[in-house]
Amino acid sequence: MIVSTDAIVLRTVNYSETSIIVTLFSKESGKITLMAKGARKPKSPFSAQLEPMNILNLNYFHKDGRNIQLLKNSSFIENSLSIRERFDSLNYGLTIIEVLDKLIHENDIDPIIYRLSIKTLSALKNSSANYDIMFSFFLLQLSIRLGFMPELNQCCNCSNILESAKFDEHRGELICENCVHSGEINFSPGTIKLLQALLKTHIDSLHSLKYEEQNLKELDSFLDYYSKFHLEGMTKVKSLKILRELVHG
Ligand SMILES: [Zn+2]
Repeated sequence: MIVSTDAIVLRTVNYSETSIIVTLFSKESGKITLMAKGARKPKSPFSAQLEPMNILNLNYFHKDGRNIQLLKNSSFIENSLSIRERFDSLNYGLTIIEVLDKLIHENDIDPIIYRLSIKTLSALKNSSANYDIMFSFFLLQLSIRLGFMPELNQCCNCSNILESAKFDEHRGELICENCVHSGEINFSPGTIKLLQALLKTHIDSLHSLKYEEQNLKELDSFLDYYSKFHLEGMTKVKSLKILRELVHG
């Protein structure tokens, strides 16, 4: 059976003298692994296409019971050249595809996460966009789609309305200042408001959100705690650590 789908290239590994094994997150088949025969030959069209973060349309031969399917042909929908041109967009892009690789299981089909991912990668091409808030948006929407919607209005302990808050490391949710008995408040009222606003904002309208630099740092810190607590595989994402060291310095 020949399957046709759009897909994001997540990673590649050389196989034999001439071939490449490529892992992709596809719109119609979820995460898939394909063999691209002859892809390492200089004249193969695959060699330019099979680069992480590229978005392709492809056809492959599917056989049940086989772990690696055979790539027939592919063509560009979007290449990732302009993401690779800048250090910060490159780092965010590589982190996004590693998150997808570690969190999405083989053959889990989720066109909404697929759409979120291509929208976020495409937004990285805009050099004037704020990548911090885009990445936070991506992590928040991904968490929700994977079944974890953070409670951003009420304290998870006493149900009081949240103004400033701390991340409760035992429950994985926010607690209010009255319920904090040790440690410091991590999140100021502006950050809680920004998180609430992020739930209702479209990715194309992120630039209209108002916030202080401190709120962005706290937002990133909340999503770091939250995603590592709830999303299986998140602690294994190596580029997250690199991203926070390099970009946030
Ligand atoms: Zn409380």
